Amino acid sequence: MKVLVTGGLGYIGSHTVVELLENGDEVIIIDNLVNSKLEVLEKIKKITGKNATFYQYDLCDYSKVSEVFEKERPDAVIHFAGLKAVGESVSKPLTYYENNLLSTINLLKCMAKYNVKKIVFSSSATVYGKPKTLPIREDASLHTTNPYGTTKLMIENILTDLYNSDSSFDITILRYFNPIGSHKSGLLGENPNGIPNNLMPYVVRVARGELPVLNIFGDDYPTIDGTGVRDYIHVLDLAHGHILALNNKIHGLKIYNLGTGKGTSVLELVKMFEKVNNVKVNYQIVKRRDGDIAECYASSDKAKNELGFTCKYTLEDMCLDSYNYHDAN
Ligand code: NAD
Ligand code: UDP
Repeated sequence: MKVLVTGGLGYIGSHTVVELLENGDEVIIIDNLVNSKLEVLEKIKKITGKNATFYQYDLCDYSKVSEVFEKERPDAVIHFAGLKAVGESVSKPLTYYENNLLSTINLLKCMAKYNVKKIVFSSSATVYGKPKTLPIREDASLHTTNPYGTTKLMIENILTDLYNSDSSFDITILRYFNPIGSHKSGLLGENPNGIPNNLMPYVVRVARGELPVLNIFGDDYPTIDGTGVRDYIHVLDLAHGHILALNNKIHGLKIYNLGTGKGTSVLELVKMFEKVNNVKVNYQIVKRRDGDIAECYASSDKAKNELGFTCKYTLEDMCLDSYNYHDAN
């Protein structure tokens, strides 16, 4: 299959591109490098021995997207590209709405024009807001609490409307839980600019002595040890979920959670990280972070039953691989 991967040099996109190339698929990447580096392309080649065709274009530029469709005529699209920092989306909502929505609309217009009907879209568990029941099923109510999350929900709605207008579209919405970990080679991973917002990159930097202490946001939640519980999933398992979604025999509009189905608290993750990497992670308990929820983990039954999706990697692997990438870089 010839697959157009938007945001293919980013964290999740790059791992997915590797698996596509290893499976013998042809890969076209559009990425404007707003949150990634060109050197990732070389690393992908180093791992796979294969080239992906790369366009450093902004998806918000319709003429550029159209040019790629005209030239490449892909069979399917995996749409990762987007801005993803929750805090930044609160301070720069227009940037987030413009980038995430316009890029998607341009992409979908080109898909319609060039008769490309299969798309896999990166959504997020953030669309569930504060869950009423756990584990979270795909039919749970949806509610967003920040502009980033709202862009994801709006895109889900756009995709639904598009499908209702033209049922020849084959659309998969994947709601990711908390991706961490990195490629086993140590060449690909996540290394955010500035001070990380997410837990794992922060833990890694404290373990390396690059940041003095991890602030754990609250130990008074109604959870196993009082700290927040999330469903961490290895990025390689997540990447594999996209391959399954592309090859899914069920046609139509489908929505799947991609998580392990298992909740892990902040302290459990920190302890596991210390143990498997034989390092110390200094931490202190501070007050809760605004907008945080106590617990969030997926029901992974639907993805398992319909996609055959299961997770291969454990929390140990996730902790080892996250540190290994940082070590190697
Ligand atoms: P990332 O920032 O590493 O990758 C996104 C890529 O998209 C980057 O390489 C960036 O340069 C590119 N991009 C952004 N806007 C673009 C534009 N207008 N034109 C072209 N390229 C553009 O993010 P990621 O962690 O790999 O996430 C991929 C997708 O998954 C995103 O849509 C994100 O919202 C979603 N998601 C991520 C997480 C997570 O925790 N990482 C969780 C849930 C959902
Ligand atoms: N967290 C923390 N300290 C940090 C970053 C995160 O204690 O520096 C906690 C956070 O409160 C949550 C969990 O770690 O319970 C995961 O947070 P992250 O931002 O990675 O993911 P999200 O909250 O978006 O699911």
